[in-house]
Amino acid sequence: MGFSVFLLPLNCYIWPMSFRIGQGIDFHQLVEGRDLWLGGVKIPHNKGALGHSDADVLLHAICDAMLGALSLGDIGQHFPDTDASYKNIDSKILLRRSYNLVRERGYWLVNIDSTLLLQAPKIKPYVEQMRRTIAEIVHMSIDDISIKATTTETLSFIGREEGVVATANVLLQKY
Ligand code: MG
Repeated sequence: MGFSVFLLPLNCYIWPMSFRIGQGIDFHQLVEGRDLWLGGVKIPHNKGALGHSDADVLLHAICDAMLGALSLGDIGQHFPDTDASYKNIDSKILLRRSYNLVRERGYWLVNIDSTLLLQAPKIKPYVEQMRRTIAEIVHMSIDDISIKATTTETLSFIGREEGVVATANVLLQKY
């Protein structure tokens, strides 16, 4: 009969580590005559996302994941589309403000993992720039920011290029 001792890192005894996980999802219609903003980057395309703000579905999902991790509600509560001051607002501003709410509560981001679901255009050439853009706003290394993308193999409204979806998970740690 033996017993095992689970040793935790020393800082766990001095200052218990506190982590929070969050997830976010967002949808926008794709229509002609709008710019396509994804991950803070303007992407040349014949359609763009429809919305009150610049309709950056990826940044909105990341904002919601951060807010959700701390049970702070959602992006619609903090930045309502009934408020004219958010009309066509750059979603990088919303990301910065959401991140500030996280910081004010004593947390910092550990990593972001996200997925874009869209049929077209191919976003691979822009992923690096999106990661850099987000990294700058949330003061992280781009190695801590993952952006994946998938089509839906022409299935559903995404496959018909009528809409775009993004999901994001974040991990926060108390500092
Ligand atoms: Mg949105």
